[in-house]
Amino acid sequence: MQGSASTAAGEPAILTRDLTKSYGRVRALQGVDLEVRRGEIFGFLGPNGAGKTTTIRCLLDMIRRDGGTVQVLGLDPQVDPLAVHARTGYLPGELHLDENLSVEKALRFLGALRGAKVDWGYVRTLAERLDLDFGTPIKQLSKGNKQKVGLIQAFMHQPELLLLDEPTSGLDPLLQQETLRLVERARAQGATVFFSSHVLSEVQEIADRVGIIRQGRVVEVAETETLIKRSVRRVRLSFRDAVPAAELAMIPGVTILSEGEGGSLLIQAEGEMAPLIKALARYPVVELDTERPSLEEVFLAYYAAEA
Ligand code: ATP
Repeated sequence: MQGSASTAAGEPAILTRDLTKSYGRVRALQGVDLEVRRGEIFGFLGPNGAGKTTTIRCLLDMIRRDGGTVQVLGLDPQVDPLAVHARTGYLPGELHLDENLSVEKALRFLGALRGAKVDWGYVRTLAERLDLDFGTPIKQLSKGNKQKVGLIQAFMHQPELLLLDEPTSGLDPLLQQETLRLVERARAQGATVFFSSHVLSEVQEIADRVGIIRQGRVVEVAETETLIKRSVRRVRLSFRDAVPAAELAMIPGVTILSEGEGGSLLIQAEGEMAPLIKALARYPVVELDTERPSLEEVFLAYYAAEA
C-alpha cells in the first residue's frame, strides 16, 4: 500500500463535518457528516439526486465545497489536492476517455496524471481478471468494457483509499461479482473503500457499514447487519393444503398481509429470515417467492424503527 506510513493510525480515512454545497438554488449537500474508518468497506446509499456524486467530488476537491470541513487521509483536499489524488483511486460515475487511444495508452496517460507509482505487472493482472484486452482502441469498447478501464485506473496504483461512484452500474452480473471481489481484495491488502450505490443487495454483500443519504443529508449510518435486521421483505407462498397463517403470524417480525384463494399467502417478514424458513419447513410449501426490499422500504423500516 503506497504512502500508508504517512497516515496516522486510528485517524479516519474520511471525515466531513457540516459539508455543504449548492448548485445555484439546488442545495445538493445540506450539512453532511461522515466518518469512514481506515480499512473498512463503506457503502454510501441513496436514491438518485441524493448527493452521492457531489459528496465524492468534494472529497477530491473536484467540486469546491461551500462550507464545512473535509479530511481525506488526514489531508484537506482543498489544501493538498495532489497528495490526495496520488493516494486515492477514483472511479467516476461517467469516465471520459480519449477515444483514439488504446486501452494501454489510456491507462498509462491516467497513471501519469495521477502522479503515483504504478506497477504495470499488477495492472496486467487486473486486466486479465476483468478479461480486458490492452490493445483495443477505446472507441471500439462496449459500455461494460469502458467501465473495466475505469475500474483498472482506480485500482492500478494500489491506493490507500478507493472512492467508487456506482462501480457496478452497466456491468453484467458476472462482472458485478468480479468488481465486488476486486473491492474485497483491495480491502484485504489494507485499503479503505468508499462506494456509492443505489443497489441494496451489493451493499449488503460487501459493506461493513452503510451510510444513507437523502436530500443532501446523511440520515443514517449503521453496521450493515443492523440495516438488514431492520429491512422488510415480502414473501409470497402457496401451500398444497391448509394455510398455516395463524402459526406463521406468531413468528416475531412476521405480518400476514393477505390470504388468497387456493392456499396462497402474502406475508411481510422483518429482519432475519431463519425463524420463518424453519417454520415453513414443517408445511407442504408448493411455491415461495421473496421480493428484495427496495431502498425505499429500508428507509420506511428505518423511520418506523425511529418512531
Ligand atoms: P445519482 O445517483 O442520480 O447520480 P447522486 O446521489 O449522485 O445522484 P448528485 O449527482 O450529487 O446526486 O446530485 C445532487 C443534487 O444536485 C441533485 O438535485 C442534482 O440534480 C443536483 N446537481 C448535481 N450536479 C449539478 C450541476 N452540475 N448543476 C446543477 N445541479 C446539479
